[in-house]
Amino acid sequence: MIAPVMMQHGKTKSPIRELFEYSLKQAAIVGRENVFDFSIGNPSVPPPRQIAGTIRDLLDDMEPLALHGYTPASGAREAKEAVAADLRRRTGDDIGPDNIFFTCGAAPALIAVIRALAVENAEVILLAPYFSEYPVFASTNGMKPVVVPADTADFQLHADQVEPYITPHTQAVIVNSPNNPSGVVYSRESLEALGEVLTRKSREIGHPIYIIADEPYRELTYDGEDAPYIPAIYPNTVICYSYSKSLSMPGERIGYVCVPNCAADSADLYAAVAGAARTLGHVCAPSLMQRVVSYDTSLRPDMAAYDRNRLRLYMELTELGFRCVKPRGAFYMLMEAPDGDSLGFSERGKEFNILMVPADGFGCPGFVRLCTCVSYDMILRSLPAFHKLAKSYGL
Ligand code: PLP
Repeated sequence: MIAPVMMQHGKTKSPIRELFEYSLKQAAIVGRENVFDFSIGNPSVPPPRQIAGTIRDLLDDMEPLALHGYTPASGAREAKEAVAADLRRRTGDDIGPDNIFFTCGAAPALIAVIRALAVENAEVILLAPYFSEYPVFASTNGMKPVVVPADTADFQLHADQVEPYITPHTQAVIVNSPNNPSGVVYSRESLEALGEVLTRKSREIGHPIYIIADEPYRELTYDGEDAPYIPAIYPNTVICYSYSKSLSMPGERIGYVCVPNCAADSADLYAAVAGAARTLGHVCAPSLMQRVVSYDTSLRPDMAAYDRNRLRLYMELTELGFRCVKPRGAFYMLMEAPDGDSLGFSERGKEFNILMVPADGFGCPGFVRLCTCVSYDMILRSLPAFHKLAKSYGL
């Protein structure tokens, strides 16, 4: 017999996938340049130039059996040391190689941490809007997802709205900032307030509630804004990081879990993350990529193109009368359905070849998500279509 839950997850297409396939079909009919696909969060800025050089140098200079061989499950020592040293420099925290566990990106990092905390009846709090895979990750790995609805007034994190959802079974809260899909960066004050609530509630229920900081967009911020280092605000934090977006290499599958020393039961939690990864068939993250990301840890994404995109799109769409959430980080923007029907809005967009993902799957009905990691040229070409879309709603 086949496991029905897994079969269902395999057969259910995500709305993003469906739109992507639709865009290919539509492009064959009306021409690629007449389809305005804002659905997929694939980086549109190439990886920093140095990456290709580093790969070439490693292939030329490193002993092939070492370069392509297994590394320890948590990663090559020198690669972990380089990443830890960078984190130490940036945060002042005493991160060492033994706090770092390389993974194949943020998704497996999150699943490893979820599994590591999945005691009987465990619950994990998701703050809407959230990355649409979280409920699947949680529910199939031993945690019940508990959703705190979005505060659509500002999309910020409000600790007082989280508190009622904490129960004696709460093991963790996933905090994703800069946020996919809202582009919001949670303020230091809001994180401090969450830290206070979690500290008090942990004491009340008699076990630590961890923050799982999902940070693939950590460096992707605008206007000089910084995403605060959460363990300095709330020690019981585990970081899930990925280079998919920051170095524009999502297909290379590299990221890490960082369990800082300040987290409760840090060494045991690290061991549980390693154990959870093992149960998932993790052997090691790609060896070549471990070396690539640790070779020069000062590389940062070129934000200029993303910045230009978000400013232009935000300006044009708000001028047309749409209500948009101005992104402060990442490369996504939420736009409200003028009549509150996000599914209908996404469908209406298709009539003008504008592809937008209904944010219902992100726990945020009434909004659609636009990816701003597209070409500037496509944004310019899409403006007449947005104009018609606005008119069709009487804006
Ligand atoms: N978390 C968030 C918030 C994301 O947006 C994504 C990818 O889009 C992931 C995790 C997964 O990233 P990765 O490619 O590193 O597995």
